[in-house]
Amino acid sequence: MSGTPERRITDLPSLIESLPPEDRAAAGRLFDVVATTGRLDPPEAMRAWIEKSFGSVDAVTEQRIVRVTNRVTLEGSLFNGLRASRPLDTGVSVDLEREIEAAGGDPFCRPEEGTPADVFGRVRGEHSVTASNVAKYDGFHGVVIFDDHNPLHLTPEKVSDYISVALEWCRRALQTDPEAKYPFLMWNCLWRAGGSIIHGHAQVTATRGAHYPKIERLRRAASSYGAKHSSDYFDDLHRVHHSLGLGVPAEDEVRAFASLSPVKEKELIVIGRSPEDESLRRTVGALLQGYVHILGVQAFNVAFYMPPFAPVDEDWSEFPTVVHLVDRGSPANRTSDIGAMELYAASVVASDPFRVANLLRNGPLKDA
Ligand SMILES: [Zn+2]
Repeated sequence: MSGTPERRITDLPSLIESLPPEDRAAAGRLFDVVATTGRLDPPEAMRAWIEKSFGSVDAVTEQRIVRVTNRVTLEGSLFNGLRASRPLDTGVSVDLEREIEAAGGDPFCRPEEGTPADVFGRVRGEHSVTASNVAKYDGFHGVVIFDDHNPLHLTPEKVSDYISVALEWCRRALQTDPEAKYPFLMWNCLWRAGGSIIHGHAQVTATRGAHYPKIERLRRAASSYGAKHSSDYFDDLHRVHHSLGLGVPAEDEVRAFASLSPVKEKELIVIGRSPEDESLRRTVGALLQGYVHILGVQAFNVAFYMPPFAPVDEDWSEFPTVVHLVDRGSPANRTSDIGAMELYAASVVASDPFRVANLLRNGPLKDA
């Protein structure tokens, strides 16, 4: 890629136009892309402040905004790079490492005494052990407690262990209740991402009757797409991202890219055949390591969309394992990263997915 000018999300309409015909057709089936310009007229008295905050007055008087809608899932994002540089009333400053260390000695530092076991006992891995969540989301709700107190001290090996421990927990839940067929694995890292306990931990649930609605909705959307276009939704999704230059490093038979319709900042999507594949688990770990050490992410969410663990009535045969990673912003920031737009309209995103992908491909990864 060296020598070519860096691509920008604001050029997406022309980038799609210049794709090879089959990729361009897939992009047209999947995405609706609209570019627009926002304009304003600042008073003289504001000019110095605008220059200081945004670099130049021109950057503010004409702002290019790109709106991307996934036609299949009806998820969508509004990109405006200018928002990345806007001044924030952050209110607090946080020495994060010190704050994490200061929270040491918590119940998760000694899970045997500090946390309850599930009715089927605990699952132990090399780097983690499970507990039963005290206040449950669902009938089965466990916690994968990491040996590491500091959740940012992660490696591909450790993350792979956390995930395989969670999968074994799901199998134990299924043995205990044969109807608890639908697994969900999530990780809320630090308080910005919804984590109430600093000590490194992921969470796992198993639900009955049907999958959680957002996962079932994706299954139905992908299934309708396949029936209508005789083409696999996930194959096409990867094809379009990869063809545009949004691919990020992944191990064999795993597909990963920076999303064109991210739910929020720097969202990555990882697609693998099964969560049992170590290559998928290690890829997620390596990308999280890139998040922390290349992109400077500190608070993030991870979610695993997985088919049920036992036969069910609806058809999951074409549904892969889909993993979402998203940055939730600086723990020092008091302003929430989501508001009414994200809850009820579309996601407003400052990070450029082309830049995210470029950095993850070329960034200097420091050792954890
Ligand atoms: Zn701890």
